[in-house]
Amino acid sequence: MGDLILNLKNKRYGDLVALLPTGAYDNGSMIWNCRCECRKDCNKEVFASARDLVTGIIKRCKDCEQASQVSRSDKKEALRHKARELRNMGYTYAKIGGELGVSRQRAHQLLSDNYRVSA
Ligand SMILES: [Zn+2]
Repeated sequence: MGDLILNLKNKRYGDLVALLPTGAYDNGSMIWNCRCECRKDCNKEVFASARDLVTGIIKRCKDCEQASQVSRSDKKEALRHKARELRNMGYTYAKIGGELGVSRQRAHQLLSDNYRVSA
């Protein structure tokens, strides 16, 4: 139920290119073997579920993610972006909160002050 068995082969999500489905699942979502192409010399192997790829939760290998040194406000913005995408996929606030690891109220809050970008 709610499976995301999508054909992501050779599709790009952020800096990741999905190569092969592993046959393993994370919460009903197929885990894919991906290659990180954030830099020419990265090519790191990354395992990410279809859901995390499609929703943009995982966009690159961990090393590159850390190197990018995302600021707090950027993180909030990223969280909001994910919340919005999940909302577009028809998720309830409770489910969005569950996916993002925040409360239902927090998910609602993230979505309600949608376009107010803090300086
Ligand atoms: Zn990388």
